[in-house]
Amino acid sequence: MEESEAGASKPENLGPVPTPGPGTIIRSFSQPATPGERLFAPKCLSHRADPLSPAPFGRKSPCRQSVPVILSTCMDIPTGTKHLEGVVRGLIDIHQQSTHDLAMLTAERELLGTSLSALYQVATCHRKCFGGGHVLESLSGRIYNLAVSAYQLALSGLYDESLNLIRSIGEIANLISLSVVDKNALSEWLASDKQTRIRKFGPVKIRALLKKHDPALLIATDDWYAEFCEKYTHVTPQTRPNLHAATDQAHVGGAHNTKELQRVLGELSTIVGSVAMIVCKYADLDDLIDEIVRIVRKNGTESSDDAAQLATRSARES
Ligand SMILES: [Zn+2]
Repeated sequence: MEESEAGASKPENLGPVPTPGPGTIIRSFSQPATPGERLFAPKCLSHRADPLSPAPFGRKSPCRQSVPVILSTCMDIPTGTKHLEGVVRGLIDIHQQSTHDLAMLTAERELLGTSLSALYQVATCHRKCFGGGHVLESLSGRIYNLAVSAYQLALSGLYDESLNLIRSIGEIANLISLSVVDKNALSEWLASDKQTRIRKFGPVKIRALLKKHDPALLIATDDWYAEFCEKYTHVTPQTRPNLHAATDQAHVGGAHNTKELQRVLGELSTIVGSVAMIVCKYADLDDLIDEIVRIVRKNGTESSDDAAQLATRSARES
């Protein structure tokens, strides 16, 4: 049985305490931040054995979470501005580790970067102002900001939080898809008050409207949306924050993981690339459509092929 630093035994009802994986990064506030520093603390879970800190939400909740990147021991957790300074140091460290992975994620970054360029140009009327209410421009700007935020969160090792934002991008993407296949529905959405929007144009209703058309122009499908809601947005009794599938380890605070970063950037680039194709078509950015198609075909994976087919059809029907 593992002993805490105070010598207390781990209560039986807390269940097994996992050993921190080899990738667990510990940073003590008492130690100066050194670039690339990696310290391993096999006793770093000792606070879970503290009988004065019972699990508040069920016996498995705290004892299954790994050590935050910014903390070394439970006795060394700073408060106030010192805590925030530690958060920033930890995020900078994770960002540096993520940067080393980016060389092998060229395909995702090419697609994402080109798609973001297109969205930025449309959102800011960079090439041409089409006048009117600038609704598409505003939606493009919202997607751009969400995507940039999701990218930053992914580089910071906050993968669940990044995927939460990607879910929001999926909602907007479906609304823009609806504008392609159902002009009447979009006109109604534009003219609707808050109550009508909630009643008739929630995410489920928009997917239902899209599915009336065959084949359905769904960028965020039912299954995709359900997974993102269940795992990364809504809390359930089984919620484990920032769970890294490869190690079955949850994390409080950001923690770098190459596979998780790759997965998140794959999701982000696919959904942003798909909606960017439609936006490009609306804004006559044919050169960027060609560029996105070229990137997808060059780096073709099954999911990117699906996205490309969907987006190409979206662009054709816009
Ligand atoms: Zn304008």
